[in-house]
Amino acid sequence: MAAPYHGHCLCGAIRYRVTAEPLTYYACHCTDCQRRTGAAFGLSMLVKQEAIELLQGETVPYTATLRDGRIKAGRMCATCGTRLWGGLDGRAVRVLQPGTLEGPTGLAPIAHQWMSEAQPWVVLPDGTRRYEKSPADPMEMVKLWREAHPRPPPKAD
Ligand SMILES: [Zn+2]
Ligand SMILES: [Zn+2]
Repeated sequence: MAAPYHGHCLCGAIRYRVTAEPLTYYACHCTDCQRRTGAAFGLSMLVKQEAIELLQGETVPYTATLRDGRIKAGRMCATCGTRLWGGLDGRAVRVLQPGTLEGPTGLAPIAHQWMSEAQPWVVLPDGTRRYEKSPADPMEMVKLWREAHPRPPPKAD
């Protein structure tokens, strides 16, 4: 599959589409992501802010200030509480929750980070790229994604 990708919240009040290919997509096993999702790990699909088009409903903001001062914020459905995307309003990039996409999209995480905090029963396939913490260079996930998903050359007129 290729963009646009369609998505919706659990109750269906919010419907959206993503009009461009993601910048990257990775899994994070840190304890913040475990708490944030109430699950074993978080999935982050980075997309350009303008690529998210709201088709139906109104999202509401959520925000959390962590003990170290970091602010986690984003948008969710007011009715069912599904988190749709993170990122402060006005930022160029949003962190889409890919579980809200209508699948299968054919997209898979390029890497798994914070394996040092992963639940002990999480077993990844051989050959999966993994990091004990997060990569030293924050652009590394984007570079890996680009290498694995090269853009087709522009069409000649
Ligand atoms: Zn909803
Ligand atoms: Zn995390």
